[in-house]
Amino acid sequence: MEAVKGTAYDYIIAGAGAAGLSLALRLSHPDFNNRRILLIDRSAKTENDRTWCFWEEGDGLFDPVCLRQWSQFDFFGPSASRRLELGGYRYKMLRGPDFYRFAQDRLSTCSHIEWCQAEVYHTGHGETGAEVHTSAGSFTARWVFSSLLENDVLKSAQQGHFLWQHFLGWEIQTEQAAFNSDCPVFMDFRTPQRDGTCFVYVLPYTTTHALVEYTVFSPEVWPTYAYEDELRAYLSTHLRLGSWQVGHVEEGKIPMSSAAFPVRRGHVLFLGTAGGQTKGSTGYTFSNIQRHSDAIVALLRRSQPPIVNPDFRRQRYRLYDNTLLSVLCLGDFSGSELFERLFTRNPARRMLRFLDEAAHLGEELLVMNSVPRRLFARRFMQEWFRKS
Ligand SMILES: Cc1cc2nc3c(=O)[nH]c(=O)nc-3n(C[C@H](O)[C@H](O)[C@H](O)COP(=O)(O)OP(=O)(O)OC[C@H]3O[C@@H](n4cnc5c(N)ncnc54)[C@H](O)[C@@H]3O)c2cc1C
Repeated sequence: MEAVKGTAYDYIIAGAGAAGLSLALRLSHPDFNNRRILLIDRSAKTENDRTWCFWEEGDGLFDPVCLRQWSQFDFFGPSASRRLELGGYRYKMLRGPDFYRFAQDRLSTCSHIEWCQAEVYHTGHGETGAEVHTSAGSFTARWVFSSLLENDVLKSAQQGHFLWQHFLGWEIQTEQAAFNSDCPVFMDFRTPQRDGTCFVYVLPYTTTHALVEYTVFSPEVWPTYAYEDELRAYLSTHLRLGSWQVGHVEEGKIPMSSAAFPVRRGHVLFLGTAGGQTKGSTGYTFSNIQRHSDAIVALLRRSQPPIVNPDFRRQRYRLYDNTLLSVLCLGDFSGSELFERLFTRNPARRMLRFLDEAAHLGEELLVMNSVPRRLFARRFMQEWFRKS
C-alpha cells in the first residue's frame, strides 16, 4: 500500500534494511492488523549489497530463504586449526536480495503496512509522538523506529575504543571442484597480519562456487587494491586455485565500538547498527537484530512503551566486548592469536553461546580462562571503571 501524506501512523519504521524489515515482519502478524504502520527507505531494496551469516539452534524464520546451512566449520589460526562441530547450532548464510524479497512478499499481503520510497531528512520527537520529514513529505507516528545511522551517532561511537571491520569479498567460480561445500571457513588467520587483525572467510555455495571475503579490524579502511592483492594471494596459496573467475563483489564496513549507542530520542527508538545492535568485539549484528525485534514486539503486544533497555546480562557482555576491543585497539595482544585461543581451546558450541550472550557463568569463566588472564583482567577493570 502507498503511504498517504499527513496521515498519523501508529508506527513508522525509518530504514527498511535488516533491522527495519525484521521488525516489520513481526508486525505483519494479524495481532497488529489494527495498527497503521509505515515503512520508509530511500532504496527499493532489490540490490545484492550484503550476505549475512549467523548461527541459531534448529529452524528459524529465514530458513526458507537461507542459501546454505552448515553444522560444522573450519577455523584456521596462525599456528593451530580445527574443524569444529557446532553442537546443535547451524551456521546459516542469507543473501541480501533473498532476505529483502522474502520480507517484501510477506509484507505486500498486509494492508496495515504501507511503503514509501523516499529520502529521510530528519526525525523529530515530541511528548507523545514523533515526526519523519522525507523527500515525499512529512509523516507522524506514536513511535518511530529508526535504523538510520546518523553522523553524530557515528562520531560519538568513534570516541570510545573504535575499529572498522572492513572487507571485500569475491564470488569465485572455478572449473574444477575447489571448495568443500559441506564446510565453510569461519575464520582463516593464515594471512599477513598487517595494519590490523586480518582474516579470510569462505562460504561455499557448491564445490566450484564460493564467496571468499578478506576482512580486517583496523582504525582505517583500505584502498580496494589492498584487499584484492591479499585475496589473490590467499586464493593461490591456501586454496591453491590455478584459475578462477570473479563474479559479484561484496564490500562494506561495520563500526566496532565500545561507546554506548543511544536507545532512543523521545519517541524515536533506534534499531540495528544505529541502535547499538552490532557486537563491539566481532561486528556480528544480525542475530542481535532478531532478538531486539522480538523484545520490541513483546512490549508492543503488552501495550507497553517499546523501549528495550540493556538488561544486566547485556551490560555484562558489553563489558566483555569492550575488554576484547580495548585489547585489539591498544595492540596488547595479537588478534589472530587471541581468536586462535578462543576457537581452539573451547568447543564451538561454548564459543557460539558466548558470542550470542547466552552462556552461563561457568561457560563464561571457561572462555575467559582461554585468553591471557592478567592482561584481560587489567583491561576488564579499566573498562569497568571507565563505564562507572
Ligand atoms: C556487506 C555487509 C555484510 C555484513 N555481514 C554480516 C554478517 O554476515 N553477519 C552479521 O551479523 N552482520 C553482518 N553485517 C552487519 C549488519 O548485520 C548489517 O550491516 C545489517 O544490514 C545492519 O542492519 P541495519 O538495519 O542496522 O542497517 P541496514 O541494513 O544498512 O539498513 C539501513 C537502511 O536505511 C536506509 N537508509 C539509510 N539512510 C537513509 C535515509 N536518509 N533515508 C532513507 N533511507 C535511508 C538504507 O537504504 C537501508 O536500507 C554486515 C554488514 C555489511 C555492510
